[in-house]
Amino acid sequence: MTRITVAKGDGIGPEIMDATLEIIKAAGAKIEIDEIEIGEKVYLSGNTSGIANDSWNIIRKNKIFLKAPITTPQGGGYKSLNVTTRKFLGLYSNVRPCVSLHPFVETKHPKMDIVIIRENEEDLYAGIEHQQTDEVVQCLKLISRPGCEKIIRYAFEYAKVYGRKKVTCFTKDNIMKQTDGLFHEVFNTIALEYPEIESEHWIIDIGAAKLADTPEYFDVIVTLNLYGDIISDIAAQITGSVGLAGSSNIGEECAMFEAIHGTAPDIGGKNIANPSGILQGAILMLAHIGQTEIAEKVQNAWLKTIEDGIHTVDIYNENISKQKVGTKEFAQAVIDNL
Ligand code: NAD
Repeated sequence: MTRITVAKGDGIGPEIMDATLEIIKAAGAKIEIDEIEIGEKVYLSGNTSGIANDSWNIIRKNKIFLKAPITTPQGGGYKSLNVTTRKFLGLYSNVRPCVSLHPFVETKHPKMDIVIIRENEEDLYAGIEHQQTDEVVQCLKLISRPGCEKIIRYAFEYAKVYGRKKVTCFTKDNIMKQTDGLFHEVFNTIALEYPEIESEHWIIDIGAAKLADTPEYFDVIVTLNLYGDIISDIAAQITGSVGLAGSSNIGEECAMFEAIHGTAPDIGGKNIANPSGILQGAILMLAHIGQTEIAEKVQNAWLKTIEDGIHTVDIYNENISKQKVGTKEFAQAVIDNL
């Protein structure tokens, strides 16, 4: 039995998390759950950080955290809890697999199968912002050599373990010569330790254009925090829906698993959200805690459901899909396929 922390989050969070927990419990996941409340409700109850101290203690004690999306206020309000959690738990690596499910989900990129590995603690996300004058604000981009080394070595080790052929680095080092330049320089050095894996570098703007147009060209991509956040939403969306992709946030001691998308407030509470993203996060979690057979069982049941054409509205296509279902009905179909 592994004790994990679960947060159901905001917007569509509770419905997609309930669906996911039902599926993995039905599959026989050996987990015990401590549920915590974080995000908007905590903030509105008067705790300006959006999380209680007791909840931090539970997260730290259990070390494994399955988290639904949470609201981050734009332009003001509490600091992003996602960013704080990654930093607080030392979750330096954010792994985001994005794979096409052709011919079962419509995509222009049937051969796409990429993994984006995003640095998760530094960059403009370090949260160093200053008001310089009434008219000028500043945000500092923090990049460290140990930070670059950790994430780039992680990307090459990932490629080695999963039999991937190529690691591509994205930076903007023609403009940010020192910060992005350091990331690129460390990439070149570490690549020499992995001669069996092809390595290359693209400037992020043209790299992102290539990714949107010809994603099958790429295999593993390693990049800085902000670029990784942006390109992984693009990558997930062009597989068919941003609602399909999950991610793991890995540190030395702790790990957090989630969907890559947000709280989707436009569809919250309507039983129409696709629970696949957080389910994919849960599958990555089960594999991480050594319950690989159960992870495989859930993945196969999920794939069979998608292949049977049982689709939520975001991926429903009348030429391919057989049945348009809600969140709960999709979860039940996955359970029936276990
Ligand atoms: P979003 O990802 O929540 O939604 C973007 C679009 O994708 C919406 O039209 C939405 O309906 C659709 N969508 C997303 N997930 C879906 C799903 N599972 N099924 C079907 N359709 C889905 O992005 P946003 O609107 O920019 O952000 C909303 C909130 O989420 C913001 O407060 C943001 O800060 C937060 N957010 C949280 C996380 C996280 O907790 N890790 C990540 C990204 C955004």
